[in-house]
Amino acid sequence: MFDDWNARANFDKQHIWHPYTSLNHPTPVFPVASASGVRLRLADGRELIDGMSSWWAAIHGYNHPVLNAAIEEQLKSMSHVMFGGLTHQPAIDLAQTLINITYDDLQHVFFADSGSVSVEVAIKMAIQYWASQGQHQKQRLLTIKNGYHGDTFGAMAVCDPDNGMHHLFNDVLAKHLFAKSPNCGKQQAYDADAIDNFERLLKGNLNSIAAVILEPLVQGAGGMRFYSTAYLKKVRELCDEYNVLLILDEIATGFGRTGSLFAYEQANIAPDILCVGKALTGGYLSLSATLCSRKVANGIGSGQHPTLMHGPTFMANPLACAVANASLSLLLNSPWQQRINNIEKQLQQELAPCHTLSAVKDVRVKGGIGAIELHKPVDIHWMQPRFVELGVWVRPFSTLVYVMPPYIIEPADLSKVTSAMFQVVSEING
Ligand SMILES: *Cc1c(COP(=O)(O)O)cnc(C)c1O
Repeated sequence: MFDDWNARANFDKQHIWHPYTSLNHPTPVFPVASASGVRLRLADGRELIDGMSSWWAAIHGYNHPVLNAAIEEQLKSMSHVMFGGLTHQPAIDLAQTLINITYDDLQHVFFADSGSVSVEVAIKMAIQYWASQGQHQKQRLLTIKNGYHGDTFGAMAVCDPDNGMHHLFNDVLAKHLFAKSPNCGKQQAYDADAIDNFERLLKGNLNSIAAVILEPLVQGAGGMRFYSTAYLKKVRELCDEYNVLLILDEIATGFGRTGSLFAYEQANIAPDILCVGKALTGGYLSLSATLCSRKVANGIGSGQHPTLMHGPTFMANPLACAVANASLSLLLNSPWQQRINNIEKQLQQELAPCHTLSAVKDVRVKGGIGAIELHKPVDIHWMQPRFVELGVWVRPFSTLVYVMPPYIIEPADLSKVTSAMFQVVSEING
């Protein structure tokens, strides 16, 4: 159809939306021809070292022989069948693994096709749980500011009310409750003020609250904010004390990224409902899961409304489940903890000099996540091509220049990524 990349790029610019972009003011996009290991190969032949894992997902790197083989093998028997009235081994195996690696009481699994949808399902579970006990007034959620839970309407309604999309969709979004977000960054200590605020909202609205939802320890797309295990522990205690469900969204943090398989382990707590996605398939296909406890499943199943009202067309897609099984097996049989520790140490060491740069407000590292927070929002039109010139793929947003590389990245490659971050941030003027 097109004989050169300029024509294709031009078509893209005029006709295709990219995430959070305007067709009238497009930001630069770079055509990728292939990807392998931690390298993206652009159509013009340049190679970029990947610092993003394609939004936390490609933890084993790209074009992995084991993951490729899993999909090819599954393709020979079936790529998809409906999940209504049918079942299959890839889904059963995956559910079994998820149940095995999460908290003991999480015994029931709903497969969905994206992180946002798994959050929708979690919200439905919580509301239906209470409705089944005759408590139809418990339909609201309590969350913390600076959160991100996805782009669909249910999920959007619990995203940060200021930097999320609330102003635009205000009249069609459910009205939930937002507590002050806990301290972040250098002040990682227990934040009594934030807990007070949380407890007051919980206590004052108990009749209408079905569940608390939050991202444990790391608020990702809402600002790459890290908070203390003490805060999370206290939230769990308060949920127990006031008898509301706790939904943990581990779509970004799940599968090792923060140094434990799931972030909640670090606080020694467990959720009633858990959302996972992103790295679940090693970044190969879109798949997510919502797990819940026996209490939640029995509560829904034994009540007045025993049917969980959700069922996506591509629920538990066999190709996606097969590659998720292969990805989890790769992960669990790898020294992932050691790798994350090494990445953490190296990020700490190599990003520390960024503290001296005038554009920098804070530098934070947790597990396989390194974030530089700037005083002002980045100019993506300048910064994105600059990173590409330096041979790395780093995708900044808002005031954040951050990385979360594939777990398999070699120290020399990670050094190239961190030195490009230092270089680019040092070039910001004013
Ligand atoms: C990415 C993300 C989502 C949304 O997942 P999608 O697959 O993009 O729908 C939800 N919650 C968190 C914490 C995320 O990081």
